[in-house]
Amino acid sequence: MNKIGYRPTWAEVNLANIAYNINSIRKIVPEETEILATVKADAYGHGLIPVSKKLISLGIKYLGVASIDEAITLRHAGIKSSILVLGGIFLKDCPAIIDYGLAQTVFSEEIAAGLNAQASKKRKPVKIHIKIDTGMGRIGIWHKDALTFVKAVNKLAYLKIEGIFTHLSSADSDADFTRRQISLFKELLKKIDCCGISIPLKHAANSLGMVNFKSSHFNLIRPGIVIYGLYPQRALNIKIKPVLSLKTKVVYLKKVPGGRSISYNKTYVTKRKTVIAVLPVGYGDGYPRALSNKAEVIIKGRRVKVVGRVCMDQTMVDAGSVKNLSVGDEVTLIGQDKNSFVSAEELAALSDTICYEIVCGLGNRIPRVYLNK
Ligand SMILES: *Cc1c(COP(=O)(O)O)cnc(C)c1O
Repeated sequence: MNKIGYRPTWAEVNLANIAYNINSIRKIVPEETEILATVKADAYGHGLIPVSKKLISLGIKYLGVASIDEAITLRHAGIKSSILVLGGIFLKDCPAIIDYGLAQTVFSEEIAAGLNAQASKKRKPVKIHIKIDTGMGRIGIWHKDALTFVKAVNKLAYLKIEGIFTHLSSADSDADFTRRQISLFKELLKKIDCCGISIPLKHAANSLGMVNFKSSHFNLIRPGIVIYGLYPQRALNIKIKPVLSLKTKVVYLKKVPGGRSISYNKTYVTKRKTVIAVLPVGYGDGYPRALSNKAEVIIKGRRVKVVGRVCMDQTMVDAGSVKNLSVGDEVTLIGQDKNSFVSAEELAALSDTICYEIVCGLGNRIPRVYLNK
């Protein structure tokens, strides 16, 4: 794992909270429902390998990644679980799916045939999950064309159709559309069943679908963001604890009179005598520049404002209200300090994005430190 270097900016990832969140997920779905934990994008910025190992220790049997590369990283770390590649691949990539024993999302005849040919050559059947487009408009075969496709794929001897799935596009914004997506998927499943084709795993639910639409559960769910203790939208009815905290330390304290301009373009001018604390963190670490003059950080349990533009490597805060402050004191940019709390959701709202982008955006320059408490 990365160690904290000379620059004291780090993220704490509390794996015990992943256990808490998985437990909460298990409480809201029927006992027989399996969980595919989404660990793409370096486990939403939390660290692919430590998070995946924790999930496996909690009894999670399926992991979902975006690419073959992410899956190979898991295999090289000794992880033997089922791994579903959720994204599309190219024909040339088919051998890797078989060599690394991965399950591949399939929605084109070309890739189905390519995988079948490679699997047959290597005498090793390959697992696939067929992706259905019921309104997401991304990868996936349009639901009306899906039955013909499933029948054709089912004839390929070395393909094992382990699953079939769709993805909800608007579970946070359009309940009617979401219900329609679910019912289109259900109708298709019925038709497939009638043809005598049996597919073990059927899935549709991301975190939002899982919490808000019980009809999206089928026999497998694919939560991502709630595993990390973040709400995709406010007030979801599930108890979770945020897993990641972002911290740094004051590198410089500067006593200034009123009328001093702070940072690029002088977007902030001190109103009165105060103390500016300089923090060694910036948009080069994934702390968004859009937080300039908006976000707050916590020092000694007190929330203080970011002043002036967030720079690439440095950010200034007005720390005039913090007593007995010294260089080297800890600063919380995301997380809890005493009775104050700054969430990734709050930073997302202030920078006009979603909390996914905040945690995924935290760069390689930030070492992840793993805790279990
Ligand atoms: C990322 C992803 C998920 C998880 O979504 P959350 O909103 O994080 O729960 C589920 N399914 C697919 C196909 C995904 O790409």
